[in-house]
Amino acid sequence: SPEFCSQVITPTCNTTFSYIDSLNDGLRPLISELVQTPYFRYFKLNLDKQCKFWNAQHFCATENCAVDILSPSQYNWSDVTDEEWKPARLGKINREYASDDSGAAIDEAPTCEDLDYCHIDDDHNCVYVNLVDNPERFTGYGGNQSFAVWKAIYSENCFPNTNPMSMKNPDAAPESCIEKNVFYRLVSGMHASIAVHLSNEFASPSDSEFKPNLKIFMERVGAHNDRLSNVYFNYALVSEAIVKLSKFFPLVQSIKTSDDLSHQKFLSNSTYDYSSLLDSIISSLSQHTLFNTSRLFHPDTTPPSLKEEFRSRFKNVSAIMDCVGCDRCRMWGKLQTIGYGTAFKILFEDENIDKLKFRRIELVALVNTFDRLSKSISAINNFKQLYLKHLDDV
Ligand code: FAD
Repeated sequence: SPEFCSQVITPTCNTTFSYIDSLNDGLRPLISELVQTPYFRYFKLNLDKQCKFWNAQHFCATENCAVDILSPSQYNWSDVTDEEWKPARLGKINREYASDDSGAAIDEAPTCEDLDYCHIDDDHNCVYVNLVDNPERFTGYGGNQSFAVWKAIYSENCFPNTNPMSMKNPDAAPESCIEKNVFYRLVSGMHASIAVHLSNEFASPSDSEFKPNLKIFMERVGAHNDRLSNVYFNYALVSEAIVKLSKFFPLVQSIKTSDDLSHQKFLSNSTYDYSSLLDSIISSLSQHTLFNTSRLFHPDTTPPSLKEEFRSRFKNVSAIMDCVGCDRCRMWGKLQTIGYGTAFKILFEDENIDKLKFRRIELVALVNTFDRLSKSISAINNFKQLYLKHLDDV
């Protein structure tokens, strides 16, 4: 099995396709179970936010584009009778757990947005959705509209040339584009993963059944080694972020004391034991370092402004999601850009560990983004089998 981390960014990668395939085979049922639990299946977003880059229309051409939104009575507090779940009581719990020995805090106070790599909707137009009821799959969204969005996303990767004279070690200038490659590979991996999902659950306009479509998969992803490799690259990056987060952030406690009060209502009847599932996933992911960040944003090789540039450009990618003219695609696009933005915050902001805060929405997005990648890798392996069978048949 080839080393998927080619010469382009060797410093960041430590693994092979086959290692990730077998790791994911073992993890897939656990991750799939985790994203169906009450904590991880609800996502909050504003589906009506104006696109700030151009005049984009938010209307769905087909019913596959629609999102089922939960009615406010399903998450408002007015009819909550159990004292334990009332906001005042929850605020108290939040303060009790407000920080742990590592210094990382569970958020109740306003978050430190300067360290964020993405925009997060948090206004009165936000709605809640149950992700399990709104799968990421073929919607029919395409043509010039989606092309314009992808073009805008890729154009965020145009970092200005780094000035070697502003570095401590000018000889290291040629290596200064590692971060730019990470940005490109991540966006391309996200694009490829979306294409895997839409080809894995594809429905032609005349067909109401969603099923794998090998031809679409091969055209969009299967015949492009770089795109395939970028899905694995994202898997390695997000895995590393989850492992790192678990070392300094009390994940299970934060589930019990969510900062998102409406969301607590979804948890109120649940006695789900998150610890054993999270422990199993994290211990499998921890067996091997999949992604090495030690040479990214290194002070000897990059000027301090590069990280700011990276952060603000990825924030723009997350804002571009408001320009996606299909509700279902916009919802999953927002979730994944928040998931990757959270992964960047974990991986690149360790020097600010005592200031880092994570909102529930970031944890939900991170875990669900990992699930998207895990499901993509399973689907890629399934398509590989379908392709071999197809070769036998012809
Ligand atoms: P596109 O996928 O639109 O690609 C445009 C061009 O980008 C290609 O011609 C190629 O040159 C290049 N390219 C393609 N893939 C890659 C890659 N991985 N790396 C680098 N370059 C690449 N459709 C759905 O059916 N369901 C969804 O859930 C969905 N979600 C979406 C979310 C977002 C944020 C966006 C912008 C679009 C989404 N779409 C979704 C639409 C989908 O991504 C495609 O745009 C659409 O299916 C048309 O595909 P296409 O083959 O014309 O090329």
